[in-house]
Amino acid sequence: MRKVFSYLKAYRVAIGAALFLTLLELGVELLQPLIMAKIIDDGILKSDLSVVKFWGIVMFSLALAAFAAGIANSFFSAHVSQNYGFDIRRLVFEKVQSFSFVNFNKFPASSLITRMTNDVTQLQNTVFMSLRIMLRAPLLLAGGVIMSLIVNWKLAMVLVVALPFLLVFLKWVLNTAGSMFRDVQDKLDGVNRVMRENLMGMRLIKAFLRRDFEKDRFEQASVDLKVRTVSSLRLIEVSIPVLLFVMNIAILFILWFGSRQVNFGTIEVGEVVAIVNYSFRISSVLTIISFIIMAFSRAKASAQRIGEVLDTEVDLIEAAGADRSLLLKQGAVEFKDVSFSYPESDVPVLKNLSFSVKSGETLAILGSTGSGKTSLFQLVPRLYDVTAGEVLVDGKNVNEYPIETLRKGIGVVPQEAVLFTGSISENIGWGKEGASQNEIISAAKDAQIHETVEKLPNQYDTRVGQRGVNLSGGQKQRLSIARALVRKPKILMLDDSTSALDLKTEAKLLKALRTYSCTTFIITQKISTAMEADRILLLDDGAVEAWGTHEELLKNSPLYVRIVQSQFGEEDFQHVKGFKQTSST
Ligand code: ATP
Ligand code: MG
Repeated sequence: MRKVFSYLKAYRVAIGAALFLTLLELGVELLQPLIMAKIIDDGILKSDLSVVKFWGIVMFSLALAAFAAGIANSFFSAHVSQNYGFDIRRLVFEKVQSFSFVNFNKFPASSLITRMTNDVTQLQNTVFMSLRIMLRAPLLLAGGVIMSLIVNWKLAMVLVVALPFLLVFLKWVLNTAGSMFRDVQDKLDGVNRVMRENLMGMRLIKAFLRRDFEKDRFEQASVDLKVRTVSSLRLIEVSIPVLLFVMNIAILFILWFGSRQVNFGTIEVGEVVAIVNYSFRISSVLTIISFIIMAFSRAKASAQRIGEVLDTEVDLIEAAGADRSLLLKQGAVEFKDVSFSYPESDVPVLKNLSFSVKSGETLAILGSTGSGKTSLFQLVPRLYDVTAGEVLVDGKNVNEYPIETLRKGIGVVPQEAVLFTGSISENIGWGKEGASQNEIISAAKDAQIHETVEKLPNQYDTRVGQRGVNLSGGQKQRLSIARALVRKPKILMLDDSTSALDLKTEAKLLKALRTYSCTTFIITQKISTAMEADRILLLDDGAVEAWGTHEELLKNSPLYVRIVQSQFGEEDFQHVKGFKQTSST
């Protein structure tokens, strides 16, 4: 948390200026009663108009100076708080960009959004308030005690004794309220999560008539937030009477002790009155301090939440010895006895996989849902690291490559197409920095989306709506294939990316892919697609059930034969390319 506030250091000059201006305002505030007393005692009571005039002008000038100082202070406070917020937001954003998948599992998107918006705003407001007014309260508090000590130090000792109790109590409130407000922010995450899911799933909610259910879900999150906020605020409100109670007891002591001293003749009545007066001032300042504490508690909670993001260790780091000069040339891939389980679970998802794909070859991966196909894909660009074994690219372990080199050489088409708000050509060009329009069009042609794009109202400049709402499933898939192709990758990985394509379009696409000199992985459910590949890997529950050519699998894998039969029907099955023996199943 301290680290989050340390980013204020960059603005120390402006902060210094703001604080100096506050002191100026405070000084005027403290001087005014003295000047007032002078005007009354030496001017009005003695009927001396020149004194009234002189001190009147002094007072007016000071008021003017305080006014100017106030405005200048606002300027500096706004400058510091806005820039600080900007810096923090940028830092968090950059950090999140460097997150690995494991990191992302720890922070849900809705929580990251709250942290980058609401939490930063809380910090910003507190910094602004601190610079603008917060210094005045503690200074008035300290000033009151010091002035009392000057007036009569013996009597003022009552205040000196009461102060530590007040400070300890204030610290307790600060800590307790801090953790309560942390909870408030977490509940705010909850509200944002429901809202986000709701907005993203609006079409589904309408189609399933789940409006009332979603309304209840939102209300529940909203009530949680309200209840938590109310109880946090209550703590602050209750703390004010406690503070005033302690101060009132101190004042009673001062009166009792003071009156005895007056009787003994060791103290003036005026001195007692003055110290009681300062005590009342301190009491009123304590009320303000409670509100300051509330602001600080919130800021503390927010700073903690932001600190958590900034302090997250990005675990997928480049090996210290990563060879910067290493290039990904051929794109041959080999899995050597690879096992994998997701970091947050012990369940093995992939078990002792061994297979290899030569440069330029195509490997089709088949397997029932949940058999680990997508998981296998993620290991090549190191979105996750293997638990055991090795993934080799061009004969070198993937973690010997600088991550950038590795990922630049790989074109991934995810199972669910992800598109960004922007034009079609921006979405395709996103795959390669500085891609030319020709490269974009040629990638679109190979991905079999060019003709479709040409028919759109603004062709390549047509806007893609949020997450591609205005496109069909197959169009989104092909756009995301084009985005991978524009990279001219050495390794192309298609995760069930042709599922929404009709057979004819798919065949054209596969034909076009053959013109690319890249190693291709295709996850597919269709035997007809798998048959086109050089080799097929059949996964069953995370283990290699069979690996080889279509013909080899027909001979060696009863499971493969069963899949072929189920997709082609018994009769066509007899004519399937390369099938020479009668089925053993
Ligand atoms: P499908 O054909 O449905 O896409 P798949 O073969 O791609 O399936 P994977 O996504 O690789 O399957 O999932 C394999 C197993 O890993 C599943 O049992 C799944 O529950 C588990 N799994 C997937 N992602 C995670 C994750 N982030 N954390 C923990 N377990 C996961
Ligand atoms: Mg999958």
